[in-house]
Amino acid sequence: MYGVKLYAVPDDVDSAIQKWHSLNFDTLFIGQGCKNDTAFLKRLQQEGFFVNLIEPVFLADEKLDEKFLAVTKNGSPASQSWVRFVCPSNKKWLSNFFKRIKNDSKLCVNSLSLDFIRFFQFWEILTPADTSDILQETCFCKKCTKQMKKFSSEAEWRCSVINGIAKKARSIITKYGKTKQMGLHTVPWKSTTFNGGAKKILGQDLEALSEYVDFFTPMTYHHMMKTDVSYIGELLDDFSERTDKKIVPSVQLKKYYRDEDIPMEENEQAINTALSHGNNNLVFFQWNDIDTNQDITALLQNTAEKIIKQ
Ligand SMILES: [Zn+2]
Repeated sequence: MYGVKLYAVPDDVDSAIQKWHSLNFDTLFIGQGCKNDTAFLKRLQQEGFFVNLIEPVFLADEKLDEKFLAVTKNGSPASQSWVRFVCPSNKKWLSNFFKRIKNDSKLCVNSLSLDFIRFFQFWEILTPADTSDILQETCFCKKCTKQMKKFSSEAEWRCSVINGIAKKARSIITKYGKTKQMGLHTVPWKSTTFNGGAKKILGQDLEALSEYVDFFTPMTYHHMMKTDVSYIGELLDDFSERTDKKIVPSVQLKKYYRDEDIPMEENEQAINTALSHGNNNLVFFQWNDIDTNQDITALLQNTAEKIIKQ
């Protein structure tokens, strides 16, 4: 898979499609905002793109009442900036999610890709060099605390919640989507990062989840995590040692959460590292950042030519 994340249907679909072909993209990860445009979805199939519909699980918008959010260890709601997470014991929320998965399994797309399928954390503003004691643990509401006690550890409970959702989503997709694939977005932490935080705090157990997914999409946004480009390679190597499923790293090209721009040479290094350690799979975050920047477009044009030669 080589392509881009797209969160809205472009104003000029013909022009966008022509650009995607010229950049050698064969894959699109589309947001929920694109799924009701049937003509657009059909066109993407006709054009030969492999289309993944992104399915957020626990992310709440700013309008959702705080009482539905997960609870941190100190009793505050799981809310920081735009990152707001629903309590994982909220049965109504989950049953609505599974209904959506059932309906979306029938859409004209090739795959559903689960996003925000984890416990709360504003990981985008953390760096792996931070100590694990700054991580926020959830959920300590009454219901979750009771559930937790049935397990040998909080970590085990968290993984079982996430694995259970992946398992059920997989069975719904297989039943109603037939050959549709299922992807899963992961936080870009290695098994050793934050002392095993991906599993213990976020509930993302790569080995267990491998049973249900066709591919993982780690968000290897090295610049926002303030790491070197080499972190992308280390992360992908760590993942591929733990799963035999396809790994499709997501790469950022524009700065987020930082004042410093990403030098174009650094973007080039990030792309090369992701492609070489990710078995030529890569998805860019996101189309607007490419389409609105001539230098980035030019860089991807060069990359496209290299990919053709391989
Ligand atoms: Zn809870």
